[in-house]
Amino acid sequence: MKYLINMLLSLIYPNRCIFCDEIIPMGEDEYICKYCNMDIDYVYNDEDANICVFYYDNITRYSILRLKYYEQRQYAKTFAKMMYEKMIRIDLKGYDYIICVPMHKKKKKKRGYDQAEEIGKELSKLTNIQLEKDNLIRIKNTLPQSKVSFEDRRKNVKGVFKVLKPEVIKDKNILLIDDIYTTGSTIKYCKEELKNAGAKEVCCFTLAKVIYNKNLEI
Ligand SMILES: [Zn+2]
Repeated sequence: MKYLINMLLSLIYPNRCIFCDEIIPMGEDEYICKYCNMDIDYVYNDEDANICVFYYDNITRYSILRLKYYEQRQYAKTFAKMMYEKMIRIDLKGYDYIICVPMHKKKKKKRGYDQAEEIGKELSKLTNIQLEKDNLIRIKNTLPQSKVSFEDRRKNVKGVFKVLKPEVIKDKNILLIDDIYTTGSTIKYCKEELKNAGAKEVCCFTLAKVIYNKNLEI
């Protein structure tokens, strides 16, 4: 019976690829079509403390934009799964907490959710690593990094993050999650704040990595 209901539901609401929005054939329990899966430019040469799943290009960019601005909150599940698969592939383990790069609370209220936190929540379910929420916070509502010149990005995020409960993360290994790695300034200051608060190791793990010569708007 349950099978029948699922079959009917998938006829009415078929799975769609999170990248190209094409319908995925019934019976395939996936949200990435085989064509996009072949075209995604995965990152294979990570630096040690800065891991990314794929490059930010025409295929992946629109999907992330839909997650961020067009309420496709459920995409976070598939993105988290891609991150989890990468963790298994490169044997990334030994972390006590997942912490997400925080959005300012005013911005979160306006948007209704924080995309990095949505990904973090799903990744926490898959990995069983506890999500440490509302500990690292953004104390200033800055302009989005995409609206600031390359040179000013460091200044824009300096001093905007704060750890509220350092005792929780003291001597812990942290997996720091964000959706897009741009110049690395945001991640750098989050990492610095976590380290200053006593974290032992902080590994930055983002979904997409921007390559500037690809000349795409973020
Ligand atoms: Zn596709």
